[in-house]
Amino acid sequence: MPIVALPEIQEAASRIAGNVRRTPVELSHSLSDRAGVPVYLKLEHRQITGAFKLRGATNAVLSLSAADRARGVACASTGNHGRALAHAASNLGIRCIVCMSKLVPENKRDAIAALGAEARIVGKSQDEAQREVDRLVAEEGFTDIPPFDHRAIVAGQGTIGLEMLDDVPEAETILVPLSGGGLIAGIAAAVKGRKPDARVIGISMERGAAMQASLSAGRPVEVEELPTLADSLGGGIGLANSWTFEAVRDLVDEVVLLSEAEIAAGIRHAYFEEREIVEGGAAVGIAALLAGKVRPQGPVVTLLSGRNIAMDLHRSVVNGADSLEAPR
Ligand SMILES: *Cc1c(COP(=O)(O)O)cnc(C)c1O
Repeated sequence: MPIVALPEIQEAASRIAGNVRRTPVELSHSLSDRAGVPVYLKLEHRQITGAFKLRGATNAVLSLSAADRARGVACASTGNHGRALAHAASNLGIRCIVCMSKLVPENKRDAIAALGAEARIVGKSQDEAQREVDRLVAEEGFTDIPPFDHRAIVAGQGTIGLEMLDDVPEAETILVPLSGGGLIAGIAAAVKGRKPDARVIGISMERGAAMQASLSAGRPVEVEELPTLADSLGGGIGLANSWTFEAVRDLVDEVVLLSEAEIAAGIRHAYFEEREIVEGGAAVGIAALLAGKVRPQGPVVTLLSGRNIAMDLHRSVVNGADSLEAPR
């Protein structure tokens, strides 16, 4: 039984319309030529805040009761989820505290503050930052909005699947970056709810693919987190995972893993052939096609999920670097 089904995703779509961008889909001529089938790109990296996470965050915040909204929201992410929650909350006039450790660079703190959230600096690790979130929840009535393992987050991300099929109704293969699985759980529920025979394929990096390791083990497991070009796909799925593990196990047809060099090639292809700047985690669909690790059946839609890559890293990859360790 899918955790989130089509009606909940359709409700999310009407709830968040007007607060998020409806992003375009475009045909990629170069990828279509190589694959021998039409390949479309869902240009979600052009979403406000530079990544799709604004959809889930906006849906989660709008789903709170008036009383909960009045007390505020919190999270410990300084990545794309933190940016999204900060923007969604400030857009809706809700107090938001993003907790982070002293080790988080000042430009990241400033970026969160610029989005209208309070950047609270606590301790020396992500765990200590999360403890401050837990304290805000227990003592001050804040609501913790997590990055993926949450119904409203899954439903919000699923709105991407509705738009993909609205724009490419003939799509048969959907390629989605995979980390904690909120994104692919929502998209797969939306796509299969409308088109049960369409295939949904998740793509992660070889270096620290927590969902794939958990699927093989048959339960959520931890993996060592390693530096990767696809930094937004890093991190675990949570040993106490409630929603996304089962959804991915039940709905996703296949998971593909990529090397750093393959991800780098995806970033370069996006730049030189599609003229798009994307982060490593967003280039994996393109990369899997280029590497021949996905055999597309019928028209393909591949999701470009974000563009928040450090521009000096982007420059070095575009100049030929194949990993984080090999700047050019
Ligand atoms: C978070 C993120 C993902 C993965 O989403 P999950 O819901 O964790 O699977 C993919 N791409 C980008 C750019 C992200 O920020």
